[in-house]
Amino acid sequence: MTTYLFTHRDCLFHDTGVGHPERADRLRAVLHQLDLENFPALERVDAPLASREQLALAHTEAHLDGLVARAPVAGIINLDPDTKMSPGSQMAAMRAAGAVIAAIDAVMKNKKSNAFCAIRPPGHHAEADRAMGFCLYNNVAIGAYHARKKYGLERVAVVDFDVHHGNGTQAIFEKDAGLLYASSHQAPFYPGTGDASETGVGNIVNVPLAAGSGSRAFREAYDNIILPALEAFRPELLIISAGFDAHEKDPLANLNLTGADYGWITKKLVALADRHAAGRVVSALEGGYDLEGLADGVDAHVKALLRA
Ligand SMILES: [Zn+2]
Repeated sequence: MTTYLFTHRDCLFHDTGVGHPERADRLRAVLHQLDLENFPALERVDAPLASREQLALAHTEAHLDGLVARAPVAGIINLDPDTKMSPGSQMAAMRAAGAVIAAIDAVMKNKKSNAFCAIRPPGHHAEADRAMGFCLYNNVAIGAYHARKKYGLERVAVVDFDVHHGNGTQAIFEKDAGLLYASSHQAPFYPGTGDASETGVGNIVNVPLAAGSGSRAFREAYDNIILPALEAFRPELLIISAGFDAHEKDPLANLNLTGADYGWITKKLVALADRHAAGRVVSALEGGYDLEGLADGVDAHVKALLRA
């Protein structure tokens, strides 16, 4: 069993400005945690840049042209009230998408392997034609389409345990029965989508959780709804939108998960991928805004990927 860690220092140079929660220190905290003695077995790989053709797998030409045109040569601009772009952002975002693509290539080519992508900016709020909610490109959606195009996979699933609903991934997938999107998230909450009634063509599974919910409601959501849906779908590749902002320490949200919950769900997903996807799991970092909570969640998540 090999677990890859895809990352790149360019992801540090997406500058969101003073006081923004989605900051470079998040990635430093993740990489510091994974440098500790528990993770000697990780296979570390520098993420390549996604090509324009690869980004266009999930995005319109207008979105790609718009980000190129708006990229500042100095200072920071607003793409929306939350979503910033600095001179280093385009390169960071192309590394983030490139990490997921390269991680998929790695797990497709190497038996019994999985991967974690320590990347920023995150991706799951980005829609086909717009950046949103700290996200420029939808890294996991690009990866899902890459897996289909390059390897002919017929069923790819994205599981999203970030505390926010991945409106972008849902919108990109919702008419495509070969792609399953399953999300647990706090609701009512940003971005406002993710009601259980939003089911796409039978390929969207949303489990909203009330503010103040904790471990028990989270685990019931997976045991009763999301894991059975994944089991029935039989994905050939499992992609995780791994946000850690449902952690009890997170300042932006009000679910109360602990590291143990992230270890629990990751073990379940690894076992499911063993049954249906030859163990192929690619996990991509999304949110998580308390540095200790983020490190705690990533620690448990990556240990479970390593089966440590
Ligand atoms: Zn989030």
